[in-house]
Amino acid sequence: MKKYDKEEVTCFKEILVETTCDLCKQEIPTDSYYYEVITGHNDWGHDSVDSIEKFDICSDECLKKKFNEYLEESSKTKYIEIEKSQN
Ligand SMILES: [Zn+2]
Repeated sequence: MKKYDKEEVTCFKEILVETTCDLCKQEIPTDSYYYEVITGHNDWGHDSVDSIEKFDICSDECLKKKFNEYLEESSKTKYIEIEKSQN
């Protein structure tokens, strides 16, 4: 037989306080739209998961810059996913 007692524990959960643009470093205001961008490639076989990068992007202008960076990327099997999202 096991006997239990109660012990108070404090725990922390993560809450989102701020989203900043990964290009211009400006804060993306709450309730405004922004872009979630994922880039990566399949050049490394199973290790290709390490190539996946996620970006939060504040505006069309920053998205254009990110897309240009993507075009300059030299990997053979590169991909980009762009999703418009609300903060
Ligand atoms: Zn930006």
